Amino acid sequence: MFEDASTTGQNSKKGKLNLKLTMGFPLNERELKKTVGDHSRLDVLLWDKIQVMSHRQRIIMAIIIGGSLIYFTITQVLLVVAKAPSEPTQPEFRKICTFSLERETIYGPAEEESLPIIYVVTPTYKRPEMVAELTRLGQSLLLVPRIHWIIAEDNRECSPVISNLLTRFGLPYTHLVSPMPEIYRKERYIPRGVSNRRAALQWIKENGVNHAVVYFLDDDNAIDIRLFEEMRTTKKVSMWPVGLIGDYSVSSPVVDKMDNVVGFYDGWPADRKFQVDMAGFAVNVGYMKKQPKVTMPYIAGHEEDGFLKSLNIRYEDVEVLASGCTEVMVWHTRTTKNPTRSLRLDKHQHDNIKRLTDNMRQMGMIK
Ligand code: UDP
Ligand code: MN
Repeated sequence: MFEDASTTGQNSKKGKLNLKLTMGFPLNERELKKTVGDHSRLDVLLWDKIQVMSHRQRIIMAIIIGGSLIYFTITQVLLVVAKAPSEPTQPEFRKICTFSLERETIYGPAEEESLPIIYVVTPTYKRPEMVAELTRLGQSLLLVPRIHWIIAEDNRECSPVISNLLTRFGLPYTHLVSPMPEIYRKERYIPRGVSNRRAALQWIKENGVNHAVVYFLDDDNAIDIRLFEEMRTTKKVSMWPVGLIGDYSVSSPVVDKMDNVVGFYDGWPADRKFQVDMAGFAVNVGYMKKQPKVTMPYIAGHEEDGFLKSLNIRYEDVEVLASGCTEVMVWHTRTTKNPTRSLRLDKHQHDNIKRLTDNMRQMGMIK
């Protein structure tokens, strides 16, 4: 326990000061002067320092403080005024790399052409973990019939490693690229994976069949494949909880006894009509194609909300899945950023390690 000066009977200056401090701030100036004298105060000390500064030092200090204030004000003003528009003014770069409409794999169930297709849209970008993420996700998708996997790369060029992976898996797929426009990379909150998801939406509008649903599934998420059978028959839009999100560790529609959506639960400020995670809903393609202005805005944190609003969805349209939104069947797992690993190849120019690291470089695992 901390000893209190009053109980130890001390009456020295130090003792008195300790007593005051334990009883809380602020000490008034008179008391301070009484106990430890004028010069213990920080502002007085600073003022003393300024007074002994040379004229030049004072000017430098004024420039530093003034400059920082001006810089701070300008950046704050720019953040508000120079916000990039939610719809780009320039046409976005989009390209289809390779695609296949056939299921050609020995894994998983046989194709069932009578089922509605699920267009699984996965945005991805080059980083050491990319191939690992796509391998894990793709092998979940192999267990599901009537899937068309759209891998939408945030890149100008088509990464051959992705096309190779997709042809090897043998699922019906489309590999396309659409890099994030430069203006958005400069934003304080970057709308990640938006340009590529928008390109996938355009592909579906132009090439997708109506008897289908679209589902956004990020490359680092984890899914229970039973969820695909639940979402497959979505008429307009369906929703369910997503685990491992935000302060409340789950994001979910709140539903009443009649399975009507009455709001959302996820611990974020309720400034959005649809507080859903990207992995928490599916949309019928026929319905989507009928809507005049479908878009996903370039606004970080409002991508899903903006998209669903553009689809003219109301709460009463939402089909509630996962046992009335009481079960978690998809998780917003995240892969932490790893430091760049170093290579020591000087002793391995003529053995397997050389080829191993060459292969890893092709996979984007090392530079
Ligand atoms: N993504 C992207 N470009 C980027 C950053 C992310 O295409 O510059 C993709 C990423 O591969 C993932 C999705 O967008 O599928 C969401 O990104 P991330 O997982 O980094 O975001 P979070 O999990 O924090 O929402
Ligand atoms: Mn993620």
